[in-house]
Amino acid sequence: MIATDSKPSYREMITGDRFYYGVEVVTTRGLSPPGSPGDLAALAGSLLGDPRVGWISVTDNPGGAPMLPPDWLAGLLPDKRGRIVVHLTCKDLNRNGLEAAAWRYASEGFDNVLALTGDYPTTGFHGQANPVFDLDSTGLVSLLRSMNDGLKIPGRRGGVEVLPQTNFFIGCAVSPFKLHEHELVPQYLKLIRKIAAGTQWVIPQLGYDMRKFHEVKLVLASRGLEVPVIGNVYLLSKVVAKLFHSGKLAGCVVSDGLLEQAEKYGGGADKGRVFFQELAAKQLAVFKGLGFAAGYLGGMAKPETFSSIIEKAESFAPDDWREFIREIQFSRPGEFFLFDHDPQTGLSEPARVNREFLRSLERPPKNGEVTLSYRFSRLVHDIAFTENKGLFGLFRRLYSRWEKKPGRLSRFAYWLEKNAKHLAFECQDCGDCSLPDCAYLCPMIACSKHSRNGPCGGSADGRCELGDKTCFWARVYQRMKFYRQSETMFDRPIVFYHPELKHTSSWANRYLDKDHQALDRPNGDGVQQDAPA
Ligand code: SF4
Ligand code: SF4
Repeated sequence: MIATDSKPSYREMITGDRFYYGVEVVTTRGLSPPGSPGDLAALAGSLLGDPRVGWISVTDNPGGAPMLPPDWLAGLLPDKRGRIVVHLTCKDLNRNGLEAAAWRYASEGFDNVLALTGDYPTTGFHGQANPVFDLDSTGLVSLLRSMNDGLKIPGRRGGVEVLPQTNFFIGCAVSPFKLHEHELVPQYLKLIRKIAAGTQWVIPQLGYDMRKFHEVKLVLASRGLEVPVIGNVYLLSKVVAKLFHSGKLAGCVVSDGLLEQAEKYGGGADKGRVFFQELAAKQLAVFKGLGFAAGYLGGMAKPETFSSIIEKAESFAPDDWREFIREIQFSRPGEFFLFDHDPQTGLSEPARVNREFLRSLERPPKNGEVTLSYRFSRLVHDIAFTENKGLFGLFRRLYSRWEKKPGRLSRFAYWLEKNAKHLAFECQDCGDCSLPDCAYLCPMIACSKHSRNGPCGGSADGRCELGDKTCFWARVYQRMKFYRQSETMFDRPIVFYHPELKHTSSWANRYLDKDHQALDRPNGDGVQQDAPA
C-alpha cells in the first residue's frame, strides 16, 4: 500500500531493503489544543514532514495511565495514515472492546498495529483502574490475524457469516533484557508462538546491550523465521536512566554500569546531552549495520533533536558500528544469554547455543519449584484428566449422567472440587481450568495479568512487574524444564479463557467438553465458538 502522501508506507519500509527511521509519539492525559505548547498534532505533523523520519508510532495508554487514544492523533493526519503505527493493548479493553477498536482502526485506514499485552494500570479517576487482560498479546495477535483472514462468526440465520477482511500489518514486542534464563527463554518461546499466531514484525523492548538485541535476530534465524526486527532506542537523560535502573518502568533496563555513565555525563554542563544523543545515534548505526529492518527512536525530545540523532547515525563511517557494538554492552553481572559469546565480534555466536544451557536441558537440575504437590498433580492429571487414558472415560460418563440429572452427588462433587483445588492451588473457581497449561500453577491467582499464553514483558530480576511475587511464567518454566518440557511448553493451541464458565465445575467442564481445551480446538470450519449453553 502506498500512503496518500506518496512516501512509502510503513509496511513497505519495514519489508523493503532500505533502513528507515521511526519516532514514538506519546499522547497526553488531557486536551492538546492546536497551537498550545503541547500540541500533539503539530508535533506528529512536524515529525512526519521531516524527510529523515519514515513513520511515527503512537502509544496506547503507556505506563497504564489514561491518555488520548492513538487513533485520535493519527486521525488528525489523514493523508499520512500509511506511515503511522497505532498501538493496541489488552489492559483496558476486553476481547469485544479490542475487536471493536480493531474495526475502528481498520475503518479509519490504520492498518499498522502493534499488539501488546500492556502495562498494569497504575492510576485512574478516584484510584487505580481495574485491569482487564481478557486477552493477552498472543490472543490479540490471533484476533487481528483472524480479522485479516475474514472473521467467521455464527450467521444470524444459522450457518456461518464471514466478515470483510482487514489488512492489518501486525507487530509484537519481545523483552530480551532479562537477567535469568527462566525469564528470558519463555520470552523467546512466546515470541515464536506470537509469530505462528500471525505477527509480521517484531520490536524488542528497551535496553542498552547490542548483544542482547542481536540475540533476538539469532533466535528467529535459528527457527528459520524471516520476520523483520526493528531496533528500539530510547534517548536517555540522567533522570530517565535512574527511572529505568530502578526497574519501575516495566521492561526497560539500565544497568549499574550505564547508570554510572549517565550520572557522570548527566552532571556536566550540557546535562549529558551530547553523550546521550551520541549513544542513541550509535545504537541506530549498529542496528543498521546488523541488518535490522529499521530504527525506532523514543524519548522526551523535540522533533529537531530526533532529526539530529538520525543525521548523526547516518554520518558515521561505514564500519564504525562494529566498534560501537563493543561500546554499548551494558549487560548486568550474571545476565543470561541464549548464545555463546563471540569475542571477535562482541556479539553472540549464531550457531552456538549456550553450552551450559544445553547441558542443563539434558540433565535438568532439581529446583525449588518441583514440589511434591506438583509431582502429585501431574500424576492425578495423567490418571483422571487425560483424554482416552485412565479414569477419563469413567468420569466422563459419570458427569454426563449428572448433567442430565443433577442431584446431591453432583453438588457434593463440585463442593469437593472447589475446596480441594482452593487448598492445593488457591483456585478462584474460574470454571475453565488452565492448571495443565501452566504446570499446575493457577494463572488467576499467581499471574497479575492472568496470562495463560506466556509471560508479559514486565518482569524484572525474575519478579513480577508488580514486585509482589516471583514471575508466574518463570516458575512455570522451571517446573516444565525439570520434566524436559520447557522447549515445547507453548506447542499447543492459544488459550482463550471462557468467562461464561465462572463459578461452575471445571472438572465437569473438562469431561463434558465445555472448557477451552474443547472449545478452542479447530472444529473444521474455523468459526468462533459460541458460549456453551
Ligand atoms: S485456572 Fe481456574 S479452575 Fe484452574 S485452579 Fe485456577 S481458578 Fe481454579
Ligand atoms: S507474573 Fe510475570 S507474566 Fe504475570 S503479570 Fe507478572 S511479570 Fe507479567
